[in-house]
Amino acid sequence: MSPAYRIGMDPVKGVTPKVVKSDAQWREQLTPQEYAVLRRAGTEPPGTGEYEHTKTPGVYECRACGAELFRSDHKFESHCGWPSFFTPLAGDAVLLREDRSMFSKRVEVLCATCHSHLGHVFEGEGYPTPTDQRYCINAISLRLVPDEAAS
Ligand SMILES: [Zn+2]
Repeated sequence: MSPAYRIGMDPVKGVTPKVVKSDAQWREQLTPQEYAVLRRAGTEPPGTGEYEHTKTPGVYECRACGAELFRSDHKFESHCGWPSFFTPLAGDAVLLREDRSMFSKRVEVLCATCHSHLGHVFEGEGYPTPTDQRYCINAISLRLVPDEAAS
């Protein structure tokens, strides 16, 4: 059940998202803060996201398109200031691509369905998780759907 990781590749090129909207449509649908992160690869200030310490059982959806991305069971306390997961819900729920901004090499995490920016993934940091990976995700990119609400 180990998901397929594609670190180091650039999968977004040549991949058409299932959900395609114009920039104007995204701006209309999203709040300015959501737009800045999801569509402009911004980062919310650490410690400000509403889900940083949330433990409610449920599924985290993409706030832009509603695709299921992460599960509460895979969330852990990383103390880094953002919600952290050690794996996505499924290997094909997210896309990974190299990000060379900010003068360092990082791996960007995008929603596979609409190609919105979610955050970054880091590995080899020594967290006691099954994967030793930390999907460091902006809370504003996510929407938690608690299990009781799902039918
Ligand atoms: Zn999405």
